[in-house]
Amino acid sequence: MLKNLAVLCLVLATATLAACGHNDTAATADKTQASAKIHKWRMVTTWPKNLPGLGVAPERMADMVRTMSNGRLDITVFGAGEVVPAMGVFDAVSLGNVEMGHGAAYYWKGKLPAAPFFTAVPFGLTAQEMNGWLLHGGGMALWEELYAPFDLVPLAGGNTGVQMAGWFNKEINSLADLQGLKMRIPGLGGEVFERAGGSAITIPGGEVYTSLQTGVIDAAEWVGPYNDLAIGLHQVAKYYYYPGWQEPGPTLEVIVNKNAMASLPADLQEILRVASLAINDDMLAEFTTRNNAALEEMVNKHQVQLRRLPNDVLAELQLISAEVLASIPGDDELAQRIYASYSQYRTQVMAYHEISERAYINARAAGEQGDKAP
Ligand code: CA
Repeated sequence: MLKNLAVLCLVLATATLAACGHNDTAATADKTQASAKIHKWRMVTTWPKNLPGLGVAPERMADMVRTMSNGRLDITVFGAGEVVPAMGVFDAVSLGNVEMGHGAAYYWKGKLPAAPFFTAVPFGLTAQEMNGWLLHGGGMALWEELYAPFDLVPLAGGNTGVQMAGWFNKEINSLADLQGLKMRIPGLGGEVFERAGGSAITIPGGEVYTSLQTGVIDAAEWVGPYNDLAIGLHQVAKYYYYPGWQEPGPTLEVIVNKNAMASLPADLQEILRVASLAINDDMLAEFTTRNNAALEEMVNKHQVQLRRLPNDVLAELQLISAEVLASIPGDDELAQRIYASYSQYRTQVMAYHEISERAYINARAAGEQGDKAP
């Protein structure tokens, strides 16, 4: 009897082990199959192919993803117009015609009035502050909520730092000088410019040079010295104004089709997210490093006239910006929450940056001036 029981136990134990072994093997096989699958994706962008800075970032992301995934996620990057026009990126990814895209949320203001909060707000957050709001201040969850009805997953995918106010062929001494001016200036900056008496036009980067050259527009803001030199804007306008009140730290976006994202195993999804964060940082580092040399080349080699917008013009633009922001949400409950979150974060971060970033930069500048004093 005892012997029989022992045999039964042995049989049961063996069967259990065998069953477990079978399940383990099947699970491992499934996992191996999933991890062996190669996902070939397309990423469309709003930038000219390989444009320094903005256009290079998605290429770097694709390279990083390919290496980190050992070739399992293979993304081909397309410039504006290669698969879809620059302004067709949102729809192409939303519909799943391509898996992902790289651009800027404020280009989609016509569909989503609150989208510009995730790129840039006039007199709003700097690059460092945008990263704070998005990644640790609740901004990312709001952005995901805004894009969810379009089957899009947004990721922060770059930042240029403070931009330039733009290129003009006449001097801007008062707000009256903006009257009737046709300017390439997208997003909320464009709305402020319209209220200031100008006419704002949104055109992609690849068309700014020709539009300015042929007189379709009188003025244009694009990015800053590094990118503006790359597309040759110093050849078609005389005065280069600062500071970029309209885009103090614009975030670029990576958008991924929701179903495409869900089709990836967890490790590839994480690789995609981490690579996006990497270009988010890398782009800012590159602009920070290259802007001044590009500006020196413009001024010293190409005789660009560098000008600062007068304080009273900036003060008036800031007043108009507050009016534009207050008028955006309307009866849109989500837009109201986005506006509230952004505004609260701005107030809070400004208070600390007053005694940290700003106090330090002022102190550093004062020291430099002291060194040069006779
Ligand atoms: Ca810009």
